[in-house]
This record gives sequence, structure tokens and C-alpha cells, in this order.
Amino acid sequence: LALAAAAGLALSLAGCSGIAGGDGSSDGTGGKVALLLPDAKTARYETFDRPMFENRIAELGPYQVLYSNADQDAAKQQQQAESALAAGAQVLVLDPVDSEAAISIVSAANAQHVPVISYDRLIGGGDLAYYVSFDNEKVGRLQATEFVNALKAEGDASGGILMVDGSPTDNNATLFARGAHSVIDKTGLHILAEYRTPDWSPDKAQAWVAGQISQYGDQIKGVYAANDGIAGGAVSALHAANVEPFPIVTGQDAELSAIQRILTGDQHMTVYKAIKPEAELAAEVAVSLLKGETVTAPLEIQGTPATLLDPVGVTIDNIGETVVADGFWTLDDICTPA
Ligand code: BGC
Repeated sequence: LALAAAAGLALSLAGCSGIAGGDGSSDGTGGKVALLLPDAKTARYETFDRPMFENRIAELGPYQVLYSNADQDAAKQQQQAESALAAGAQVLVLDPVDSEAAISIVSAANAQHVPVISYDRLIGGGDLAYYVSFDNEKVGRLQATEFVNALKAEGDASGGILMVDGSPTDNNATLFARGAHSVIDKTGLHILAEYRTPDWSPDKAQAWVAGQISQYGDQIKGVYAANDGIAGGAVSALHAANVEPFPIVTGQDAELSAIQRILTGDQHMTVYKAIKPEAELAAEVAVSLLKGETVTAPLEIQGTPATLLDPVGVTIDNIGETVVADGFWTLDDICTPA
């Protein structure tokens, strides 16, 4: 019996560790803020966004964070938002899986006088309290500029390229592609094929690139990959098919594996977006809204007060001055094989 009771206790304690904000530092007496992130496959959310947001909230006072991750499932995110509202969330910080579908989350929140902060990805409509992100068209321009320069340096200024964009339901993916096209379309590069990767899935990107390789083979001189997850999929497909010489590949997020691929020559560049100021600003705005304060912002985007942070291109030439200098990754992290 004692054993069974002990086992029961262990089980319920195991359940406790899944409750965000249950560590005592944020006991919720100040109020509750929900953080709803879109995807667990992309490394940034669990590694950076979540802890950076939670830490800043804890510094600001005894607020509780109700955390959820939708695993790229818009219906799941809708349920998670409803649960957060039912649990008494007074502000939603929402990074939408599907920018259009998320409008109904905003309506449900607003009906309960709960303000919504559009986090990183812009929600397609509704009355938003704030939008914090990066200059996402600039992300695309940075990617494409490094891409085009590298192709020129290889003598492939009019070579064939593939474009592997992000999820069709993510407004950022549209902005990245728009920025990239604004550069690529002015060159002599030949876009062999372009794909919008469902759910930003690295596996789907890999399968699509593999299919293109069987069609175009060594005509492929470069692969514009919208983020590092997609770049990882593309690089696997290119290696599996022994495409020679190895094409120029782009990325975004400065994921550790991408920085390592840049060092080994498998990836040409990535884009560093300092997530700390993004997550911390969202936390600060959330607490201001929770206190009923008026928030101000340097920009207004689609009628919403907004802040757009500045992305930075990273190649082998400036890893030290960017991600390492900023403490995003240490040299030990980078130089220890995964
Ligand atoms: C984010 C990127 C991320 C991608 C996939 C985008 O909205 O801005 O940083 O790589 O989603 O999760």
C-alpha cells in the first residue's frame, strides 16, 4: 500500500512539473499572462522565447505564466487559448500557427476584455493590443543578398536555384519571401521551382528538395531556405543525392546546428534575430496591459502599436561578432559536436 501511495505521489509530482509558473517564483497573485507559441520542432521557442519571456515576467512581479505550445496545429492552439482564458489569463501573448484562424482567438479574448499581443507573427485581423517582431522583409533581403553574392563569387550568377519558403499560414513566411524576391528577381538567377513548406516542416522540405534534385540534379546551384530547420532538410537531401559542387544554402534563426553547418561549409549563412529583446518586450508590454496602463510603440502596423527589431546576417566571417559576442551561443556550444 505504501508503495502504491508513493507511486501515486510520484505520478502527481511528475504532473506538476508540466505546470508552467509552478516554481513559486511567479505565484500568480499579480495576475496571469498566457504565452502561446506555435511549434516545438523549431528550436528557438523552447530554448529561447519561452525561458526569456518567463524570466522577465518573474522579474516584473508575482505574475503567473500559462504556457502552451501548439505543435503547428491551429486547432490545438485554439483550444489552448480557450483553456488559458478559462483559467483566468488576463493577457494573451500569441504567436499564431495560422494568422487567419487566430482572428477568432482574438475575438474570444476581446469578448472577455483580454488584450492580445501578436508575438513574432502578425495575426491577420481583430483588435490587437501590440505587435512585436523583427523587420521580416529585411530578413528575406539579408538572406537573398548573401545568397546572390555567394553565387556570384562561385561564377553562378545566372545559375538555377530552388526557393524553399516557410509555412503558407505564417504571415512572416510571406514577408521573408517578399524580401527575398525583391533581391533575387533583379538578378539573372533562374528559379527552377519554389515551394511553401507546410508547417515549416524540415521533413517536408527535405522530401520536396529530394524530388527537385531528381528533376534538376547538378543544375541546382543554390537553395534559398527560409529558416534553419528547412536548411537542415535541404542539406540532408543534397548530401543524400551527392549534388556537386555543393549548392549555396541560406537559413534563419542562428540555430546551433546551422552555425555548425556554416563552419563545415554545408550552409552559407543564417540570420540572427536576438530573441531576448523580443521576448522581454512582450513580457513588459503584457504586464503593462495587465495593469491597465496605456502602451506606446515606435511604429503602427495595420492600426496596431508595433516594434520591429533588427535582424543581422551571419556568415563564417562574423559568427564571433554576432551570436558569440551577444552570448546567444558560446564557443564551447559551437565547437562541441552535437
Ligand atoms: C519565425 C522564425 C521561425 C519560423 C518557424 C517564423 O514565424 O519568425 O524565426 O523559424 O517561424 O517556426
